[in-house]
Amino acid sequence: MSQPIASNIAHIQGEIARLCACCGRQSSQVMLLAVSKTVNAEGVLAAVQAGLRGFGENYVQEGVEKMQALAALQPNLAAQLQWHLIGPLQSNKTRVVAEHFDWVHTIDRLKTAQRLSAQRPENKAPLQVLLQINVDGAASKSGIAPAEALDLALAVQALPHLRLRGLMSMPDAREDAAQMQALHAQVRDVLLRINEHPAFAAQPLDVLSMGMSGDMAPAIAAGSTLLRVGTAIFGQRAYPT
Ligand SMILES: *Cc1c(COP(=O)(O)O)cnc(C)c1O
Repeated sequence: MSQPIASNIAHIQGEIARLCACCGRQSSQVMLLAVSKTVNAEGVLAAVQAGLRGFGENYVQEGVEKMQALAALQPNLAAQLQWHLIGPLQSNKTRVVAEHFDWVHTIDRLKTAQRLSAQRPENKAPLQVLLQINVDGAASKSGIAPAEALDLALAVQALPHLRLRGLMSMPDAREDAAQMQALHAQVRDVLLRINEHPAFAAQPLDVLSMGMSGDMAPAIAAGSTLLRVGTAIFGQRAYPT
């Protein structure tokens, strides 16, 4: 099990370097976040041993149980890990998230952000957060419309125990990589527009969480700084039935 995980990671890192070189970017600007939903603590440990430190979870309870399992298995390594919540966040789960996670990618309303800020323990660093942008415009999807992003960014930036870092998006897969790149580029442009506001002059937003196993190339070309990759690292997910 761990051998394929290590070699998958090495392969993806080679791909990131190649794709960055193609568009004149430094691969050090693009973080590889391992999406470990449905993967057990041993699988996460294999990715840690291959050098990764950031892990993305969709479900709060699963994530917290995994953090605790890793802390029991390998306390020294576990202390170095950064946990990102990348799935939707319901307001009745904000306290657990504020207490355990390091990042939240899916902020799409002020109320959730306010609760996270109020519930973040004083002894922890600010929670790093991203606003989720719904760039497809499908009403059924989570995330805010691009036109709402600046107002929400200004309000979230003012919260004391959060640190707004940037934007996240997850457009539906497209056959056409150019179309996919155009969707990612819209999100990048939203970030650039937010950064033009004087409130962001001192600390511009610097994170674009865009791109998964199937769209690394268009995401990197559009300026992604954080790829959320599950399947290409851990293989097909087996959902419990
Ligand atoms: C599952 C998931 C991913 C990873 O998708 P893969 O196609 O397995 O790389 C990335 N982002 C989010 C929000 C996800 O839910």
